Amino acid sequence: MINVFQPSLGKEEARAVEKVLESNWLGKGKITDQFEESFAKHLGVKKSQVCSDNCCTEGLFLSMELFDIGAGDEVILPTCSFVGAANAIQKCGAEIAFCDVDKRTQNATAGDIEKKITAKTKAVLLMHYGGVPCEMDEIMQMADAYHIKVIEDAACGVASKYKGKALGTIGDMGMWSFDAMKILVCGDGSMIYVKDEEMLQRASKLLYFGLESKSGYSNSVDQKWWEFEISCLGRRSIMNDITAAMALEQLKKLPGFIARRKEIAEMYTLGLQDVEWLDVPESVPADCESSYYFYHIQLKNGKRDELARYLRDRDIYTTFRYFPLHRVKYYGCQEKFKNADWAADNTLCLPIHQALKDEEIAYVIEMIMNFEKA
Ligand SMILES: *Cc1c(COP(=O)(O)O)cnc(C)c1O
Repeated sequence: MINVFQPSLGKEEARAVEKVLESNWLGKGKITDQFEESFAKHLGVKKSQVCSDNCCTEGLFLSMELFDIGAGDEVILPTCSFVGAANAIQKCGAEIAFCDVDKRTQNATAGDIEKKITAKTKAVLLMHYGGVPCEMDEIMQMADAYHIKVIEDAACGVASKYKGKALGTIGDMGMWSFDAMKILVCGDGSMIYVKDEEMLQRASKLLYFGLESKSGYSNSVDQKWWEFEISCLGRRSIMNDITAAMALEQLKKLPGFIARRKEIAEMYTLGLQDVEWLDVPESVPADCESSYYFYHIQLKNGKRDELARYLRDRDIYTTFRYFPLHRVKYYGCQEKFKNADWAADNTLCLPIHQALKDEEIAYVIEMIMNFEKA
């Protein structure tokens, strides 16, 4: 079976984890700190603007708390988003204002978002589909004009850039996921970025009991080191040195992963661009960089489900991301969204991961070309 997503872990990660085990310190410590520093460097931001946590969903929930969003507020969410994003908004008591997306990219445009702005709008929670950047200049300009916060779910964009800036660092807050299905993986783990450094401080306390941290030195000279103080009612949502050790090795390999994914995307486009019953993704704008997290084709013959089954019968696993949230009954949305609805019924994400071999890609292309003949 050709997997649609797959991580690449090797002896480097195994050795790094082994070293942590040998150190007898498995918790959040020096290695996690090193990972935060390296990831901040990778993003091109200050270390004092990032903090690791246990998963990206935690970052989504945390964003509502940090920007003081709750009952009486509205948050605009592209209907093509991750389920945890909608849960975060509704859980805090705010209303989700779903917006449509571009039919082809499945990213929300500034125009899609602006249509949903009311006096109650506090923020927009953006997602960059497949790691292809949303039109951030237009979105930031509009958000400034209406004084709303911009939160970027950059889970798909671990190495993406918009006009030289890392995705997730353009708005007020961003978050990345390192869960088992992502590009940079460590089992479970995540990073948050908060533009305002004081707010980041607060975030890191909310992620660790609200404890007022003391420096190692003052702690060790303290007479009663078991005493403590808190500044808020925090929980415990952290990475640890085992996951961070893996993540550090993965970060070193990330440029190679992205280069290979780009190659695969180009092979698919070259092989499929002349098939008249489907559309391939547009190329990434020249001033942007993608992470090539998804490669999604769109069918013009209305046979998406048949194609998915046909490929599965030939050992090729495909999927669709993301099932539009306005169709999830629980959220109680009564609206329809023309573009998202069309995309949800006609889009298929093909296998893309850095371990795919050229023969496998050629096989996927060949099987798709044969589909209408079958
Ligand atoms: C995976 C994913 C998340 C959640 O990440 P976790 O670390 O698993 O909580 C959020 N948003 C998007 C777009 C994702 O793909």
